Amino acid sequence: MNLTQFPRRNYVQDATPIEALPAFSKALGGKVNIFIKRDDLLPGCAGGNKTRKLDFCIADAIENGADTIITCGAVQSNHCRLTLSWAVKEAMDCHLILEERVPGSYKEDGSGNNFLFQLMGVKSTSVVPGGSDMLGEMEKLADKLKGDGKKPYIIPGGASNAIGATGYVACAKEIQQQMFCKNLHIDHMVVPSGSAGTHAGIVVGMYGTNAGIPVSGINVSRKKDIQEEIVHKLAMETAERLGMREEIPADQVTCFDGYVGPGYSLPTDSMTEAVKLLAQTESILLDPVYSGKAMAGLIDLVRKDHFKEGANVLFLHTGGSPALYAYLDTFR
Ligand SMILES: *Cc1c(COP(=O)(O)O)cnc(C)c1O
Repeated sequence: MNLTQFPRRNYVQDATPIEALPAFSKALGGKVNIFIKRDDLLPGCAGGNKTRKLDFCIADAIENGADTIITCGAVQSNHCRLTLSWAVKEAMDCHLILEERVPGSYKEDGSGNNFLFQLMGVKSTSVVPGGSDMLGEMEKLADKLKGDGKKPYIIPGGASNAIGATGYVACAKEIQQQMFCKNLHIDHMVVPSGSAGTHAGIVVGMYGTNAGIPVSGINVSRKKDIQEEIVHKLAMETAERLGMREEIPADQVTCFDGYVGPGYSLPTDSMTEAVKLLAQTESILLDPVYSGKAMAGLIDLVRKDHFKEGANVLFLHTGGSPALYAYLDTFR
């Protein structure tokens, strides 16, 4: 699996740390040893997982002669923040289409990521109702910009296509290299599962290198069966793009849907517990929408003895902490 065959911009120059979480593990009864992969510390404004995907997606945009990036996300989208961040660095225009999945949740003067969209000088944002045809909206905008002489390139929500997911295949290889250097054995990996590129890329990277490390995805919006199908389909497409001869078996994709609560981006008690516990034991900030719910899943799996005693479990911290500042009332 040779990833140098694909154009990329080299946004990820160094491996992100893998840290032990001794106090957090102890607070959960000391049954397992939890480690964290700090992708919240990736470069790009305020960090987070989308940088690994955008490394490949924006390279593809530039190869295609684009001078403008269009993407979409929820009203507090980390993906939109990071796409804008890298567009700024590349001196490209960036337009965002925001989906108001929770009616009334968009606030023009909102905090968190929404504030950062304005601060980094987004070219335009437009807000559409939940359930809108986001690709259709982005294509409409692209046509308009083409009429103005621009060369727009559309990055799908979460940069979750086979191009973007390649960034998380690279992450799986990075993790294995770090495990080797540190002489660290990992028994199990837990990742958030949203638009699916992160989960799919990790599965392809682990399976494709015969790592023998099972990966569990914690859903942030969808039901188990639907999410597993989406992740598996993207994993197959990504594996094909990489020229893997073997298909990814469906049983490599496992999702848990018990931690979504009332819906995407809506707070849950187990999320607030997870965010507070990690902050108060290890001073690491999670986020309310993705990593907080994923960590709530990991905590519950530990309590239910899902992992064997003494196992080393690696949690992928995908970032998102700017969104905390849009949820102050939830934590006070
Ligand atoms: C987008 C995002 C995720 C989910 O990653 P996907 O590749 O969309 O599944 C997880 N955590 C944070 C902070 C994110 O912004």
